[in-house]
Amino acid sequence: MTSAEQDRVDDRKGALDEDDHMRDMERLELTVLSLDRPFASVMRVTGQIDTNMQGPWSAPNVAVRMELEQPADGRATTRVYTVRHFDAAEGLVEIDFVLHEGDGPAMRWLRAAVPGTKVWMTGPRQHFVPPQTPGRRAAMLADDTAVPAIHAILAAWPDGQAGTVWIDSVEPDLLASLPAPKDVTRHLLLRGPQDPPGTSQALRAVADTLTDPAAWTVWAAGERQEMRDLRSALTGRGFARSDLQILGYWRHGVSSSEVDRQRLAEYERIRAMNLPMEALDDADLPI
Ligand SMILES: Cc1cc2nc3c(=O)[nH]c(=O)nc-3n(C[C@H](O)[C@H](O)[C@H](O)COP(=O)(O)OP(=O)(O)OC[C@H]3O[C@@H](n4cnc5c(N)ncnc54)[C@H](O)[C@@H]3O)c2cc1C
Repeated sequence: MTSAEQDRVDDRKGALDEDDHMRDMERLELTVLSLDRPFASVMRVTGQIDTNMQGPWSAPNVAVRMELEQPADGRATTRVYTVRHFDAAEGLVEIDFVLHEGDGPAMRWLRAAVPGTKVWMTGPRQHFVPPQTPGRRAAMLADDTAVPAIHAILAAWPDGQAGTVWIDSVEPDLLASLPAPKDVTRHLLLRGPQDPPGTSQALRAVADTLTDPAAWTVWAAGERQEMRDLRSALTGRGFARSDLQILGYWRHGVSSSEVDRQRLAEYERIRAMNLPMEALDDADLPI
């Protein structure tokens, strides 16, 4: 079996095409205009889309599901990426791909992509932004894959809301590329180039300093097991689940296709009970 065949995820019941799943999203084609390397570990793809939904595409922290490989039959193999920036006037979408070891559809697609490449995608899917909670500081913890989300969140940061960002990254100059709202403190947790992503425990060490649930809300995104550990450390310390917005973006040693298969199976299960998408808690997936 080829790598592309291993990565495909079948949606035999068509659950992903249902209105419950597709709501407020559109499927459209992006044309790649440029590929740049703002950092050694990042490939930035800027592409153009034709949309009448400027508002939803401009919202902070929206994601798209990109159709990166099309098997001979069946559904395209997809990967989820964040819109780092959307230029509504020109219809320009900016997506930062973290370059990583391990061959997957996204890395294969990037190797072949050139200006003019076209790719179908579905979006925008609104993801969490830290809640504005008077008297409480928003803690934001991210690895490299969540830097585009942090960029979009900080670019739309509301005046008067206090926040602190910690980013686990290999890029020493990363903070200079991010917006700097006056009420937000930003910290770089610099990882050595020899340290594999998702293993540094630096974000977990930060989470261990958040000891007062009445003082913080927590937004975090990164490697799934790291995020799971962080969530259970915080709930163990009395944080309410509703004050935690923590999402695993990728799984060390596991293809996102495998995560998608489990997510789809769970989605089919809740749809069979006539429950909406909100009933699916990604944190509960056994992967
Ligand atoms: C809501 C959401 C938003 C996301 N936004 C972004 C984004 O803006 N930018 C971004 O780069 N990623 C983002 N991701 C993560 C991205 O979807 C995954 O990293 C994805 O697995 C990459 O697919 P792939 O085909 O390259 O590798 P896969 O086929 O999924 O995996 C192949 C191998 O590579 C490893 N791997 C996958 N990703 C990484 C990584 N980042 N570092 C080290 N090893 C890895 C896997 O563990 C596996 O062993 C986001 C994910 C979600 C859910």
